[in-house]
Amino acid sequence: MATIALVTGGNRGIGLEVVKQLTELGMITILGSRDAVRGEAAAIQLSEQLDGQTIPVIQLDIDDLASVAEAARWVADTYGKLDVLINNAGVNYDTHQHALSVDLDNVLSTFKTNTLGAWRVTQAFVSLLKQSGHGRIVNVSSGAGELASMTGGTPAYSLSKLALNGLTLMLASALQQDGILVNAVCPGWIATDMGGPGGGPIEPGGKSVVWAATLEDNGSTGGFFRHGERIPW
Ligand code: NAP
Repeated sequence: MATIALVTGGNRGIGLEVVKQLTELGMITILGSRDAVRGEAAAIQLSEQLDGQTIPVIQLDIDDLASVAEAARWVADTYGKLDVLINNAGVNYDTHQHALSVDLDNVLSTFKTNTLGAWRVTQAFVSLLKQSGHGRIVNVSSGAGELASMTGGTPAYSLSKLALNGLTLMLASALQQDGILVNAVCPGWIATDMGGPGGGPIEPGGKSVVWAATLEDNGSTGGFFRHGERIPW
């Protein structure tokens, strides 16, 4: 049976690029989008670039338990398993804030998406990933979440990604016996809506994520990588 992948926040930016690259590798890659209309529009455009290949779309707001549960039900009914989960959706690269003065409600809402969203989606899909036998989870993190380079800048974003890295270690340990490899990946600084115009091209950013989604069964788990190279926590 085909390899089934799901990308959260797949309607634009790095997520859309990852949908493209995984589809090109032959995986049935489900484009998760919190707005179904934006998701369908992105899938139609991508399909045109890929010679009419079908891109399945699901409405998936990672902040919303009902939406996540419904998406998991749909994948269970349609495919009966999930091989690759890319926890890509993320928000609030808060360059305008500092740890000494940041609005803590904003910190909380950033955690809600960047950390708890990935956690919520993983919980909902873990039984389907166990059906795979070769499950892969990629948490799209950031160098901003490295303990090694923590400053007072981008406080909400940095701490939410630091916590996502901790979650990666927890999940990797908990899922090792099921053959599910769980890693955190920094795509590098990429010129998306979030990254801004100074960032690099999108293709290598997507590739950095796809690398961890396509590890062999004896590949790494519980690691933090950029472009296939280990980076410090
Ligand atoms: P982006 O262009 O801003 O895209 C963010 C994506 O996340 C959008 O599809 C957005 O959907 C989705 N999203 C946000 N909240 C969501 C929610 N509650 N439910 C579902 N989807 C949600 O950002 P990007 O640069 O592609 O970033 C993708 C990932 O890479 C993020 O986790 C980010 O932290 C990480 N990253 C990016 C860079 C960089 O330089 N760009 C560097 C390091 C790490 P809508 O279109 O509906 O808003």
